[in-house]
This record gives sequence, C-alpha cells and structure tokens, in this order.
Amino acid sequence: MANIPKTMKAIRLHEYGGDYRFHDDIPVPSNLDDYEVLIAIKSAGFCHTEMLVRDGIFKAKQLPLIPSHEPTGIIVAMGTKVSNEFKLGDRVGALNLSHSCGQCPDCLNGKPLYCEDFNATGITIDGAFAEYQKADSHWLVPLPDEISFEQGAPLMCAGATVFNAIERCALKKGEILAIVGLGALGHLAVQFAKCMEFKVVAIDNRPEPLELVQNLKYSPDLTIDSSQIDATNAIEQINTLQSITTPKNYPGADVTLVLTDPIVAYTYALAITKKHGTMVVVGQPREPIQIEFRDLIFRDITVKGSLLSSIESARRMVKFVAKHGIQTEIKTYSLEEVPNKMMEDFHSANMKGKLVVNVSL
Ligand SMILES: [Zn+2]
Ligand SMILES: [Zn+2]
Repeated sequence: MANIPKTMKAIRLHEYGGDYRFHDDIPVPSNLDDYEVLIAIKSAGFCHTEMLVRDGIFKAKQLPLIPSHEPTGIIVAMGTKVSNEFKLGDRVGALNLSHSCGQCPDCLNGKPLYCEDFNATGITIDGAFAEYQKADSHWLVPLPDEISFEQGAPLMCAGATVFNAIERCALKKGEILAIVGLGALGHLAVQFAKCMEFKVVAIDNRPEPLELVQNLKYSPDLTIDSSQIDATNAIEQINTLQSITTPKNYPGADVTLVLTDPIVAYTYALAITKKHGTMVVVGQPREPIQIEFRDLIFRDITVKGSLLSSIESARRMVKFVAKHGIQTEIKTYSLEEVPNKMMEDFHSANMKGKLVVNVSL
C-alpha cells in the first residue's frame, strides 16, 4: 500500500452534454469500505452506456464523474471484510454494481442486480478511466491468466451482458439464435453462441460488422445484410439452417437477440422470430419499441429484457472465454487520447469492435 500515490491520471465528465477532460492531478480514491477493494487499473473499456451518462439520461450522483465501467487490473488494497477468495496482487475485473441496499425485495431474494438503490461505477460514481478505482468486492470477477487485461476489460460489461442474455434464452443445442446488431456486444454474442453449439444468424445493416463476424474464429452459420434483404427473404434463408424440416417447425429463428438501438431493428427481429419464439431486448432505444398484439397473442411471441449479468454468470463467462480462446476485436488508446482521438473514432460510421483504454499496461 505504501506504493499508492496521492494523485492519479483520470478522465472526467464535468457537465452533461460536455466533452471529457484529461487530468493528471485527481486524488486517488481512499477510505475503502469494509467490502471494497482498490484496483490499480490496467485496461478499461468504453461502453455505449457512457453516452447515456454523458447526455444526462443516466444521472451521476455528482459531477465531475470518471467514466467507464469495464475495469481490469490488480488489487492493491482491500477492506477488512473482503472474502478471502481475493488477495492483494490478484488479477481481476469488476461488474459495475456497488453497494446494493441489502433491504429491498430483490436484495433479499438474491437478485441484487435488480436493486434500485445501488451505485454503479462509471455511471453514478467514479469508474475506471483512471489509474485507480474502488470496486465492491461482491462484484469482482477473477481474471484467468489466459485473458490479457485489455481483452478482459470489454468482458466486464459487453461480454457479461451478452453471455447472461444468451444463457437466459434457454436455447437447446442446434436451435437457431438470430443476433441483430453486430457491434461490440454482437460480435461477442456470435462467438459465445457458436461455442454453445447453437445455429447463429448474424444480422446488421452495415458491411463492416458483417465482414468482421465472418472472419471470426467462431463465425456465424449465416450473415444477413438487413439493408439488402427484407424480413420475408431473411426467414427463407434462416429456414435453410433447419436440420430437419418437419411440418412441426415454424419458419424463423427460435430466439432473436437485439443488441442495437434503432427501432427498425426490433421490427425486423420480431418479424423473423418463429411462432412461439422469444425476442430478447438488450439494446436501449430512446423511442418505444413497437409490438403488435398479433405477435403477442396469435404468434405467442415472448418479449423479455436482459440486464447486465449476475455475478455467477459473469464468473462462468470469463472461464468460458478462456477455455474457447474467444477474442474481442479491440482498438486501444491511452487515457490522454480519450477526449479527442477515441471519441472521434467512436462517432465514425465504420467503427467496429470495442474501444479499450490501456491505462497502465
Ligand atoms: Zn456497459
Ligand atoms: Zn436492494
């Protein structure tokens, strides 16, 4: 602990709608709670949710705020009640939850993920675009040696979110999962689903992400450019994946997983979801999703959302990534590059994969 400096480099958001600013004199977090650890950050991912915070749709407890909720690094200090499964020097990542209330129905029923009175690092309290970050040890994810810090960072939100969402789909091997939106989450979802032995249809309306997933080690069974192929034709292509075409099978995908925001993506996903199938919502569109009663009543489609991940699912996920050698397509930056170079790339139309900041690699 003697080596921990008093000040650190960090990125801060000072006002909603404003630009990020780089600082080199921010106080290192101190006064750990009993269950907290201090992580010396190695790498930290930039998530789509960051823009919702920047625009004030998700509100911080106070500004300025250090963004990023995808940290990996090394434990350098620990509160007195942290579980002995963790020790100083451990390589870890952390989900963004912190200090769930412990008293609401969800906390009392073992679902603290749904607590409405918690903090979230990088969203309501300071996050990982800094040399040090406090984290609630209940949400720590041990990082297997096979996974580098920069590869581990995107798993803490993007990876955890899609792995949990796919687990919640409850598909059987050989069933068809259509993944709509092939950004950072989508290209991980394709790999997870292939390794789980589902048939995977990857859908986007941009050529770059479609090309990216076709070149993955675990590539989809079918890619569809939704800017060229309408839902009716997409269903015909999806049907070619049905190994046994029996009269018992309805056309379309067993489950559609929507990982993007435009409303047209939900309309398309719903249209290609098989009768009695499920559409899982992970994107966070700013407009309401349109659903016809016919889809719910006569086609018996189930629509459900999926929030981040339980800690158990996240810990399974990193082991799964290590076992299968799943890779995230990343583009790396320094902390100093966040306000300008990284943000320019984030807003460029042909952005693909995941933006990761190497804080101290
Ligand atoms: Zn996120
Ligand atoms: Zn609670």
